[in-house]
Amino acid sequence: MSKAKVAFFDFTSCEGCQIELTNYGDAAFLELLNHIEIVEFREAMSEKAAQYDIAFIEGSYTREADRKRLEDIRKRAGVVIAYGACAATGGINALKNHQKDYSEAVYQKDSKMPHLASEKALPISAAIKVDYAVYGCPMDKYEFVRIVSHLLHGKTPVIPNYPVCMECKRNENVCRYESNDHCMGQVARAGCNAKCPGDGIPCEACRGFVDQPNEQALKKVLMEKGHLSEERAQNKSRMFTANLRSDSK
Ligand code: SF4
Ligand code: SF4
Ligand code: SF4
Repeated sequence: MSKAKVAFFDFTSCEGCQIELTNYGDAAFLELLNHIEIVEFREAMSEKAAQYDIAFIEGSYTREADRKRLEDIRKRAGVVIAYGACAATGGINALKNHQKDYSEAVYQKDSKMPHLASEKALPISAAIKVDYAVYGCPMDKYEFVRIVSHLLHGKTPVIPNYPVCMECKRNENVCRYESNDHCMGQVARAGCNAKCPGDGIPCEACRGFVDQPNEQALKKVLMEKGHLSEERAQNKSRMFTANLRSDSK
């Protein structure tokens, strides 16, 4: 059986998801490499390809000028997967959609450099059809392997649509709220095995929200049990989810 041709592309991002993959020496990933052929991956090789079975796209869609490149990738790919929060939801980049423009304060005399010009940070799905997403900041590499493996076996990958709290309870972690901390695991999309609460830190919902999250209840619990001010609770709950919240439209 011929190997599936896989390509990786990046748009507005810190490239952390690519780094996550290149650092991934787990046996499951090495086994996966026996079944795929990586034909394009700027971070790790210089070759380019004309067609691919699976295209992985990292980073947000932040410039109309990127639309053509995205459309070209879509035409050449059988399956398109947005990987990492930036590509899947707009991620942390989408915070800029709700802030004043800080480019002058940050870059001062260089703030008008052409490569700094950008519009709203949106998920890749705002420009082209995306078939699946690997959530997380950085993306969850185990989920990455699981999704590719399912596709290679002709199965439809299942992306969790239940909250991180379920994984956290299953792992018998002590709830962050018991330590007077805050946490957004009640509405964050599971699939990371409640990594952060398991390490003793709050879930920041880097995998985005489950479908139809109760945003009002989240804000209330962040304020009443997490002791955050209203402003902080509001801002916290859109740290990775600025495009997902009902007030983002
Ligand atoms: S999802 Fe996070 S790690 Fe991945 S590219 Fe975006 S900011 Fe970087
Ligand atoms: S620590 Fe967070 S994820 Fe775990 S049970 Fe508490 S609220 Fe839920
Ligand atoms: S626990 Fe929350 S913040 Fe941590 S990896 Fe999972 S979804 Fe992301």
